[in-house]
Order: sequence, then C-alpha cells, then structure tokens
Amino acid sequence: SQQSHNPLHVTFLPFPSPGHMIPMIDTARLLAKHGVNVTIITTHANASTFQKTIDSDFSLGYSIKTHLIEFPSAQVGLPDGVENLKDGTSSEILSKINRGISMLRDPIEVLFKDLQPDCIVTDMMYPWTVEAAAKLNIPRIHFYSSSYFSSCAFHFIMKYRPHDNLVSDTQKFTIPSFPHTIEMTPLQIPDWLREKNPATAYFEPIYESEEKSYGTLYNSFHELESEYEKLCNTTRGIKSWSVGPVSAWAKKDDEKKGDKGHIEENGKVAEWLNWLNSKQNESVLYVSFGSLTRLTHAQLVEIAHGLENSGHNFIWVVRKNDMDESENSFLQDFEGRMKESKKGYIIWNWAPQLQILDHPATGGIVTHCGWNSILESLNAGLPMIAWPMFAEQFYNEKLLVDVLKIGVRVGAKENKSWDSICVEAMVRREEIAKAVEILMGSGQESKEMRMRAKKLGDASKRTIEEGGHSYNNLIQFIDELKSLKKSKALGDSA
Ligand code: UDP
Repeated sequence: SQQSHNPLHVTFLPFPSPGHMIPMIDTARLLAKHGVNVTIITTHANASTFQKTIDSDFSLGYSIKTHLIEFPSAQVGLPDGVENLKDGTSSEILSKINRGISMLRDPIEVLFKDLQPDCIVTDMMYPWTVEAAAKLNIPRIHFYSSSYFSSCAFHFIMKYRPHDNLVSDTQKFTIPSFPHTIEMTPLQIPDWLREKNPATAYFEPIYESEEKSYGTLYNSFHELESEYEKLCNTTRGIKSWSVGPVSAWAKKDDEKKGDKGHIEENGKVAEWLNWLNSKQNESVLYVSFGSLTRLTHAQLVEIAHGLENSGHNFIWVVRKNDMDESENSFLQDFEGRMKESKKGYIIWNWAPQLQILDHPATGGIVTHCGWNSILESLNAGLPMIAWPMFAEQFYNEKLLVDVLKIGVRVGAKENKSWDSICVEAMVRREEIAKAVEILMGSGQESKEMRMRAKKLGDASKRTIEEGGHSYNNLIQFIDELKSLKKSKALGDSA
C-alpha cells in the first residue's frame, strides 16, 4: 500500500540527561513498534547508552536509526565522552556540557533539513526547535518528561505570579486555577521563577514553547492525573497525548527479548539481588535521588544515621560524585557496619532501578520526586517518601502527598539550584527516621498509602494494554500525524 512504501518518518531529539533521555528513547521505541520510521539524533557517547537496546529490538520486528552528531568537546574544553549532564561532577563541568549542547543547534538544524522528517519530537529543553520546524513546515511535538500537574503549575504560576508581593519567602500561596487547593512557598519554586536571574532567560522560553508547538507528548496516564490533563487540554488549550508510563511498555518489550538486565554479574546472580532475595516481602526501602542530584557530606551523614536509626532495611544508591576522599571513609565505615548487621546495602553510582523496584522484597522508595522515578515506583505499586530537591520536584511532591495520597513528605523546604552544591544539611536524621517509620512501619497510614499505590500501579499496567487510555492515545497520535502527512502530500501535489 501507499502507507508501507512511504511510512511516517518521525525524528526524535533527546536531551542528554538520563531523566530526559530514558523516557524519550522508550517513546521512540514505542512508535517504531507501531510501524513508524524513527530516527534519533544524538551524540556518540549518548547513543552508546541505548544502542544495544535498540539494536536488539530488531528481534521484536522493528528497527530504529540513530544519526550521530559530534559533541564539541575540544571547543568547550571537555574530555572526550563527557556529553551528558550526569557527568557533571562540578558546576564548572556542568556549564561546559550545557555550552556544548547549545552549540549543537546549527548541525541539528542542518540534519533536520537533510532528513526531511514528517514530524520532529523534541525535548522541552530545545525551544528553538519551534522555529526550526516552522521553517521546514513540519509539526514540532513538545516532549514533556514530567507530570501534567507540574506543567500546569509552571504555567499558572508564571502567568499570575502569586508568589510576588508576599512578606516572606516562607509565606504560603495557593497555585492559581488548580482544582485542588495546593499550597506552597516561594522557596519551593525554582529560583529563576522567584525572581529574574540569568537562568530566567534560559527557562522561560522552554516553558513558553509548549504553547507554540503542534502538541505535547506527556509521559503520564489518564487515570493518574485526569483533572490536570484536562486543565492542560482545555483551559490552556494544549493538544496533548498522555502515552505513559513509557517505561512500562519498554519493560514488557525487554522481557520479551529475554533481556536479563543487571540480574547477573559474570554469570552469577548479582550481589544486590542476592541481598534482596534474602529479605522478606515489602521490607526494604530503596533510597535514590536520581541521576543529577549532588548532596553535601553533612546531608549524606544525616541520611546514613536516619536510615540506620529507623531500624528498617534499605538499599541506598550513593553517587561517588557526592564525595571527596576524606568523606569517603565515613561511608565506607557505614557500609561495613551495614553489611555486618545486614540492615543496609549501598550501591555505588548507578543502580538497576527498575529491577530493584519490581523486586517483591522492595516495599517503598525515598525519591527526590523526579518524574521517571515516581512513575517507575508507581508501576511497581510502591508508596513513597517525597524528598524534592530542585526544578519541578516540589510540584510532584504536592501531587504525591496532597492529591494522590501515596507519599509521606520528609520536610524539604527549599528548591536548590540544581547545579550548585547545597551548603548545609537540609533534612535532619530525626525527620528522615520518622518518615521511614511512617512509610515502612505497620501503621494505618502506611497500609492505606500502600493500597492506593497498588491500585494506581494496576491502572498503570492496564492503561498501556490494548483498549487502555495510553494505548488509545498513542494510536490517535500516530493516526493524526499520518493524516497530516497525507493532507500535506495532497496540498503539495495540487
Ligand atoms: N536511574 C537508574 N539508576 C540510578 C539512578 C537513576 O536507573 O541509580 C534512572 C531512573 O530509573 C530514572 C532516571 O534514571 O529512569 C532518573 O530520572 P528521574 O526523572 O527520576 O530523575 P532525574 O535524574 O532526572 O533527576
């Protein structure tokens, strides 16, 4: 047929940080699986994080092309291969990586022109693609890697500025136009939004570009935040499709391929898995602050004591970035002590998060409220301890605690600029231990949160099955792009 000779061609442009790339690659795979001709534009080191996965997708009957562009390492003074924000071990390196990313604009525009795709799906972090797409007369789809709730919070707070003219940074305001009464303080919103600073000029266009795009793909699902999906689509007039959780589709495909992930090391069962296997169901707390957060030594010490004092089992992912040598010895001692008591297990740098969350021994998570971590925990039916750190994470905390009621707040008060190391402990050991006891203890509150989380977890599995909301939205999204392509072809030939 016409369609199979000239399939829909969609180009994806991911932003190089794990929290942005992982869901976008999953979405690209999803479209490919549904017959779309997919190209991903990225740099070499970033491609290497997912190349094996998409190569093996061939066995499932679909294939994805990658188009590599060169990262200007030498020009910005970075060693080869440092091309992802997770490699930003200091503010200086981070700003170099960011500069390198901004220099990719021209080569990417050239590539768009060469490839002539029917549509570009680009990360929210590239607002300039709105103009690039307009020049080529193709639709630009905004890829938003967090909740509808947070996107709407940004929109209405930017529009009405309810935080202006308060007497202090800790006075509460209510998010305008929201169907729930959500209170927050100016300190909990990003600094660039609180008052103008150099970052304002960077972030404002990002949040404004959604309105200027053809539509938005949300890694969320109807059952989770339908009221905010509606707020986005109707009051704000955004054409959006919620197609998530995309990690849930990817997980199913990876299982089909027999992908063992990280459960084996050198042919043996991985150590973390052995450790988890030795624990009772739902008795372990997984502690992770995502891929970018850096903590002070003082805060690491508070976390260590808080976890130990809680008396509950835990797996804690600690990034080496967080430490210098002298600090290292405290955590090594701690690790040794935990090994002996069998209460805690430390994973250095990077954890197989999806597999840990899905393990029956895991019973909850401490999360920095990164959206991917939230969706992954939800999909595993787990309640959470909400410890927001930066960006939109305080909005996600409100969604978890106040709206969905599946989270305990640890008591974080201030939105940190994500590229600066915080100077003092933000949350004390007593508060941490208390939150852990509420979540992992046998109290009524925990039971109820656990029940609600399981229900949402079930919904997150059903929504991606044939006939589910996310499934239908995906099909509608693809169909709409196809009919756009068709009417354009008719227009061109007329
Ligand atoms: N992640 C992981 N192992 C880690 C830390 C993070 O696999 O040790 C993954 C996690 O599963 C999620 C992503 O990295 O898919 C982090 O995204 P999120 O939105 O939670 O937070 P961000 O890193 O963007 O702050």
